[in-house]
Order: sequence, then C-alpha cells, then structure tokens
Amino acid sequence: MAFEGLASRLQQTMQKIRGKGVVNEADVKEMMREVRLALLEADVNFKVVKDFVKRVNERAVGQEVLKSLTPGQQVIKVVQEELTALMGGEQSKIAVSNRPPTVIMMVGLQGAGKTTTTGKLANLLRKKYNRKPLLVAADIYRPAAIKQLETLGKQLNMPVFSLGDQVSPVEIAKQAIAKAKEEHLDYVLIDTAGRLHIDEALMDELQQVKEIAKPDEIFLVVDAMTGQDAVNVADSFHQQLGLTGAVLTKLDGDTRGGAALSIRAVTNTPIKFVGMGEKLDALEPFHPERMASRILGMGDVLTLIEKAQMAVDEDKARELEQKMRSMSFTFEDFLDQLGQVRKLGPLDEILGMLPGANKIKGLKDMKVDEKQIKHVEAIIQSMTKEEKIHPEIISASRKKRIAKGSGRNVQEVNRLLKQFEDMKKMMKQMSGMTAKGKKKGGFK
Ligand code: GDP
Repeated sequence: MAFEGLASRLQQTMQKIRGKGVVNEADVKEMMREVRLALLEADVNFKVVKDFVKRVNERAVGQEVLKSLTPGQQVIKVVQEELTALMGGEQSKIAVSNRPPTVIMMVGLQGAGKTTTTGKLANLLRKKYNRKPLLVAADIYRPAAIKQLETLGKQLNMPVFSLGDQVSPVEIAKQAIAKAKEEHLDYVLIDTAGRLHIDEALMDELQQVKEIAKPDEIFLVVDAMTGQDAVNVADSFHQQLGLTGAVLTKLDGDTRGGAALSIRAVTNTPIKFVGMGEKLDALEPFHPERMASRILGMGDVLTLIEKAQMAVDEDKARELEQKMRSMSFTFEDFLDQLGQVRKLGPLDEILGMLPGANKIKGLKDMKVDEKQIKHVEAIIQSMTKEEKIHPEIISASRKKRIAKGSGRNVQEVNRLLKQFEDMKKMMKQMSGMTAKGKKKGGFK
C-alpha cells in the first residue's frame, strides 16, 4: 500500500505525543528526531527533510502550541499542515482552454506508465468532468506503444489518432489537433515518445512538438517507486521543457513515498494525479491535504466518497434496495454487489482511507483476503441460473458438482449457502422494521 512504511513510523511517533497534557521543547525535539529519521528512510530528499524539520520546530515550540489545552494534538496539526504544504498545499487543477481543444502533452521515460496514464486520464476526464478526449499516438519509437494506445482506445470506446510510425511526432500532433477541432473534441492527449534515458534528441523532439501543439499542460509521468531518481528526472524535464504538472504512477506499490514528498519542493512542479494500480480507473486527482491525512492515519473519507460516487451505478443500487425489501434477493444480485464493492479498489486501500482504522486492534495488520472473495465468486458462478435464484434446490449432489466446478470443497459451498441464508433472514428483519416505521409515519 502507498506510504505504508512511512505512515506506520510517523503514526507511532505521533501516538507518543498525542495524549500528552504537557509538552515541552525537549518532547518536540525528540519527536522531530524520529520524524526526521522516518522521512530520510522513506527516501525523501535530504534538503527537503532539513527544511521541513526546521519549519515544524519553529512553529511547534511556539507558546500558543505548547501552552494550549491540547498541546499534543496541536503539534500533530502542525506536522499535518507542513506535510500538506510540502506536497503543494492546494489541489492543483487541470487546465481548461477557453479555445478548445485543451491540449495536454504527456512526457516521460519509457516504462514510467505514460501510455497507460494517457488512457487513464482520458477515462477520468470523461467520467468525472464529462469531457470528450482524443488520444494521440505520437510515441513512434517504442515498438508496441501505438498498438497499446489503440487497444486502450478500444477498451474505453474513445477515438485514437495515429499515423503509424513513419510520420514525425510534430506532424502527428498538428493533424491530431486539427481533427479534434473538426470533430468538436475538447481534450487532446498526446502520448509523446519516451526514451530509456534523457537525451538531447528526445528533448529536441519534445521542444518541437511543444512549439507546434502549444499545449495548455505538459505532464511528466514518473514512476513513484524510483524515489529520488524520479525527482531528478522531473528536475531535468522541468528545466528543459517547463512542466505544468507531474503524474506519479505506481504509488500503489510505493511503500516509502520519497518522490511524492520531494517532487514539489525540489522542482516546484505540482503533482496533479497519482496512479494507484494497473486498471484504467486507477488514477486519482492528487489532494495534498488528504494525502497528508492518510499518511498520519487520519483517513481520507472525501476520496472514498468520490470513489463510491464514480464506481457505484445508482440505478443498480436502487434496484438492489428494492430487491432486498421485496425479499427477491438472489445469488446473482449478491455477485453483482460484490462486483460493485470491488470496483472501489483493493480492500486494504479502502481501509486505509477510514479514519482511525489503524487504531482498531487487529484491523491494521489484517490483510484483506482478496482470494476469499474470488472463491465466493467462483462458487456462485458455478451454480446454474435456477440454483442462483432458488438456492433451496441445491441438494448434496448439486453441492458436489458446484464444489468441483469452482475448484473449492463442499464445506465452503455449505458455508456460503448458510451465510446467504443468514443474510436473507437479516434483511427480512430489517425490512420488517422499516415497514413498521413507515406505517407509524402515516404512509401506506
Ligand atoms: P510507458 O513506456 O511509459 O508508456 O509505460 P506503460 O504505460 O506501458 O506502463 C508500464 C507498466 O507500468 C505497465 O505494465 C503498466 O500496467 C504499469 N503501470 C502504469 N501505471 C501504473 C500504476 O499506477 N500502478 C501500477 N501498479 N502499475 C502501473
């Protein structure tokens, strides 16, 4: 999970000071020594750590903090505010051109996740902001890049502009923008060429594309897991090209967080989005304040709500509610519901967004067993349609067949059938309660 290592160290440190009724300078000093070590271990840039510690120290030993009624909590608030500032303070929004299309150049080294992110960004622009993007295949050097973007376009059902790998990226960009204007598409996302290393030829080419495309945004896609290398790459690109933002990919696998915490401070380039997985919906707008809360174990309910709003199909939710009330809830509906929950993302990540989840005994170390859910799905999928609707017909021989078909054993099938029955009983009780409640209120 993102920031796991840093988060658990900082939370331990904060725990020590949180409930203290009296805090003195020595306590703050001791805490900051640990914070400093935690940040360095997380691969945060040395100079960034030094400045950060200095700023927190200056603010935390102020009299209004130490003499307050809850000094421990005040000190933590200072840490949270400074972490937020370190990552850029306010959320940095994506540009909208008043003369559409808005042009975004996606740049970065090979393997950083540039092509995937181009697809994810297009998906987000359509889903969250109702925009119509055009994907442009201008990475003519990496052999599979054009094909990869075309496949992404098909998956998303979005137009992809390509002229093969024999036409220059400058020409591709020019024609793509003309086409977007013609077809009233409002965003143009140019997947530019990556290289293994930064070199002059790459920068020259990107400069030329920039001159022709006059982009509203130039986003650098960098791999968070490369830590300080990512920061150096960002620095070079920014100096030569003038970036407007960074997209940090693979944050889902980055337990340290050094790049996320240093990029803004070192290069003055804001992080606009973070990649949290390989799937096309695993891109999140970056909110410094929410990220700081997550790191300090204070949760991030706002992101969770936004995810739920985007992932859950409202009509389906209403239909399910109806079914629960009318007791016609079947295994098919159950499978559907599992699918909706899983669209929110890996379960341990969802837990990380709940405030205080780290404090509930056992929950912090609980690895949510995604396998278990897959097993349940496999068992349900091995049932016939009739069995899913009327599980009471599932006899011993049917159980055997289902177990065999799903690669599980009969006990597991039994357990699921029992759980499902219990769940239905509970629904019955609940709907009985609401029915009574309604009568009382004077409804028919
Ligand atoms: P490009 O060479 O920069 O265009 O890189 P690709 O888009 O082909 O991505 C390289 C690999 O990184 C692919 O396997 C992607 O699925 C993977 N990837 C991209 N973004 C993420 C992310 O946010 N999380 C994870 N776990 N993998 C990612």
